[in-house]
Amino acid sequence: MSAPITPAPASLPTSTPPAADRQYLLERIGEAAVVQVYADGFHDLPLREKILIWHLTQAAIAGRDIFYDQRYAHNLEMRDVLEAIVAHPAGIDRDSFSEIERYTKLFWINSGPHNNLTARKFVLACTPEALAAAARTAARNGARFPLRPGESLDALLERLRPMFFDPDVDPTVTSKTPPGGADILAASANNLYERVTMADLDGFKEEHPLNSRLVKRDGRLVEEVYRVGGRYSAQIGAIVGHLEAALPYATDAMAHALRALVAFYRTGEDAAREAYDIAWVQDKASPVDTINGFVEVYMDARSIKGAWEAIVYYVNREKTTQIRTIAENAQWFEDRMPWDPKYRKQGVRGVTANAIDVVIETGESGPITPVGINLPNDQLIRERYGSKSVSLSNVNEAYDKSTLPEFRTEFSWTPEEAARATRWSAFAGELTTNMHEVIGHGSGKVDERLNGNPQVALKEQFSAIEESRADLVALYFIADPQLVEFGLVDAESHADVVRAEYESYTRNALVQLRRVREGTQIEEDHMRNRQMIVRWLMANTTAIEMRRRDGKTYYVMTDPVEFRAGVGRLLAEVQRIKGQGDYEAARALFDTYGVHFDAALRDEVVARVDRLQLPSYTGFVMPRLEAIGGAGGEIRDVHISYPLDLTAQMLEYSAATRHLRA
Ligand SMILES: [Zn+2]
Repeated sequence: MSAPITPAPASLPTSTPPAADRQYLLERIGEAAVVQVYADGFHDLPLREKILIWHLTQAAIAGRDIFYDQRYAHNLEMRDVLEAIVAHPAGIDRDSFSEIERYTKLFWINSGPHNNLTARKFVLACTPEALAAAARTAARNGARFPLRPGESLDALLERLRPMFFDPDVDPTVTSKTPPGGADILAASANNLYERVTMADLDGFKEEHPLNSRLVKRDGRLVEEVYRVGGRYSAQIGAIVGHLEAALPYATDAMAHALRALVAFYRTGEDAAREAYDIAWVQDKASPVDTINGFVEVYMDARSIKGAWEAIVYYVNREKTTQIRTIAENAQWFEDRMPWDPKYRKQGVRGVTANAIDVVIETGESGPITPVGINLPNDQLIRERYGSKSVSLSNVNEAYDKSTLPEFRTEFSWTPEEAARATRWSAFAGELTTNMHEVIGHGSGKVDERLNGNPQVALKEQFSAIEESRADLVALYFIADPQLVEFGLVDAESHADVVRAEYESYTRNALVQLRRVREGTQIEEDHMRNRQMIVRWLMANTTAIEMRRRDGKTYYVMTDPVEFRAGVGRLLAEVQRIKGQGDYEAARALFDTYGVHFDAALRDEVVARVDRLQLPSYTGFVMPRLEAIGGAGGEIRDVHISYPLDLTAQMLEYSAATRHLRA
């Protein structure tokens, strides 16, 4: 689909075509794909659950700007400028407009000017004069720009010029290993800290580690707490209003959790966050659920501050069987973890696992979304109360349905390998994701002296170590014959499934290099962990060979038995590193295998994917809900539709929260 110059009005009803020929891949923007996600089960939910979801999606939209601001201090102003132009295109020079539109779509998908995977800044490829001319035309068309008191449009654009055009200003959003040993906070352009370096934090005790911005003011460190009456008060207040409106439609257990979340948003206190985490994890049976808050710590170079995100979803009962089976047998897996028995948990309990369909994802989880989630992140709560794991079924489906076949053939050594990938990679991928979340993140324990908090010891290495651990658990157990006994995979296809997964995991270490088009360092934690595992196996086992043919490089998995044995050895070491908080070992492991790569090899991969026009990452367009009101203002029904249009959805979301930023 080609991008419309004038976005369709967001309120235009869109009909859902039949499942067989409906559109998943909507458009390509440079190296990104835009894909529609469908929530087919929504239509059949009871009205009470539809209304509940409606209020929760409003809460998800209300907080979206928090993440934009956390990610980059200039993000919201930049977005306002871009949206003003894109929504008022009449009379703008065609070439200028198409470049501004391209940049704006990438800006929306990545929630700002920094690439979600590489953390590096991307810039507008037109001239500042072309942007200014487009803005002036848009202003004549009635566009409103975020001018400061007394500021002219030209002055605004001049002020934002380095942000739009200079790749060397704020070049990296999160820099966990900056060149030259520079400070990781100073080298990171995100807005979680202002004028703060790691040295400033020596001896400083944070009262609100997860939910505050740290600012150095008059030589003193100040925590700006995210709460009603604190930083992001207007957005958080709006979220609270929508959560409270949802309460009458929630189950008792869910209402209890939502009230605890509201209390946390009101007070900002860490004790309230703990109470919420416990209430949320104890709500095991509700058919509708939400994640809404300051959750993941990937964006913080210290792995301490939470980035805001929201997800609203309902359980996909058909697809839940597999993940439940893994969860019900969590102790069986735990007892066989190939690591020092002292790190095996006893009495594993409370792993609640569901396959879900998302209705909306915002903040850090949308438009680019995870495919599986395991929460809460608080290690002590996980050990005492368990965790909840979800596999995002409709996201997985949309990924699979929008994948181009060349993606598999180009990097496979043989046609058999490509055929195995086509036949099994969706199945093997979902099984691996489920094991990653449920028995990967959910497993193991750490030395008591770490106080359930290995993040503190492992610092910027923590997230990559934890992701490695979860991946390795999945890779290790996918080949276990017991999986057949559990009914997770058929006996006759098990060997093919294992081989397909090991092959695709191996290929990925090569193919993922397409995502890092500049520099020779991997920043994103999942990418680091996957690179590390494959390169470690290449160096320490005979399971993978690097081969060349017709000027092309291939990573070829040759021996699944040897592969699994190597995975077991590496997993034992990774668990030891987490269990002891061995920072130096973690740093050395990633520095050797996970961070650096050969630029010539990357250039080759980029050339191959570009020739085939394969995307590097995907942004998803969410379903759209519309509440149908009755005469007395009550909601009589909630309609779902599929916009098939990134621009319409992004403009609609932004318009919905602009009043909160006054
Ligand atoms: Zn993970």
